[in-house]
Amino acid sequence: MRFQDIPGLGSIKNTLIHSVETNHVAHAQLFHGGVGSANLALAWAYATYINCEDRNAISSNTNSELVGDACGCCASCVKMAKMVHPDIHHIFPTPSAKETILELLPTWRKFLMESPYRSMTDWLEFTGVTGNKQGIIPIKEAHNIIEKISLKAFEAEYKILIIWQPELMNIESANSLLKLLEEPPAKTLFILVCNDTNRLLTTILSRTQRIMIPSFSDEETIGYLIKKEGISLERAKQVAYLSEGNLSKAVELINYEGEGKYQWFSNWMRMAFKPDFAALIKLADEFDASPKEYQKGMMEYGLNIFRDLLLWKNGAESLVRLEGEELTFVQNFSKVVKLGAIELIVNELSQTHYYLERNGRAKILHLDLSLTIARLFKK
Ligand SMILES: [Zn+2]
Repeated sequence: MRFQDIPGLGSIKNTLIHSVETNHVAHAQLFHGGVGSANLALAWAYATYINCEDRNAISSNTNSELVGDACGCCASCVKMAKMVHPDIHHIFPTPSAKETILELLPTWRKFLMESPYRSMTDWLEFTGVTGNKQGIIPIKEAHNIIEKISLKAFEAEYKILIIWQPELMNIESANSLLKLLEEPPAKTLFILVCNDTNRLLTTILSRTQRIMIPSFSDEETIGYLIKKEGISLERAKQVAYLSEGNLSKAVELINYEGEGKYQWFSNWMRMAFKPDFAALIKLADEFDASPKEYQKGMMEYGLNIFRDLLLWKNGAESLVRLEGEELTFVQNFSKVVKLGAIELIVNELSQTHYYLERNGRAKILHLDLSLTIARLFKK
């Protein structure tokens, strides 16, 4: 990760570059930015820049506003890109005290290399955790890494410790970090990458130099989405508007569309048909946790399917535009659901859409809808 790989944020990047060039690298820095901001990506790019053996070798066709960047091809840059540099250490939350940071390191590398703009929820999902787990930074782990930090650097001038989500340290971990910040080992740089400074000890806050990382602008989000996700300008504009500078949310909005929709919808309908109430409650929770735009999109999708079901039932098969598994779904359900029930379900779906738009509680709306549909299926 180099500065030029991160969209926008020219003045922050240049400030960081300047601090290195003028020998004013503060030993403890706090990169504070919202979820889906560039705070972690910038920490990575900054560490890469500091350790680069051929800095400022910025090629002419890249971001002209940057005053410098890492070369991207020296031994250090190559290791940094693969996240295997021996002088860079990572502390990040693990799903439970059972998994150690060392065990999760390969997964962490993969996660970061795929995209460094993601949220804690994304990370937990990536580790394969299900349910309502929260990440923690175990004290034992923090100690192990802090011990390593006290050793001399192997290859680089600086040892760098990147702590992602320091707000998830328990009081013990935070205190041992504090001790280290008070008496820092020589040539060691701490970069704390956080979303919420209110949850950090004030004693830690007061010992770090705080750098505010703004959310991405719409233009930066649009550029990123077109380049990385290959979507149209028009769609990128819509998503940028909805995600408010949060790249994690933007990518989530895009991924929620398409293939997954039918699977989710058809599973929901099957559970309502059975009916499996335990599964319906779980689905309501899932629905509640998804982005608002996805929720509304799901209602619109359901409306399309049920309107086609209505056409099919009325003998207007030629007007049904569905294909593949969606068409099979309509054919199968038309055999078991009565016409009157379909009409009522169409009504219910459009009502729910209306309430979602007016910020009704998604979980309750969805559960209500599921129970009504289950009842109507049996009519
Ligand atoms: Zn380099």
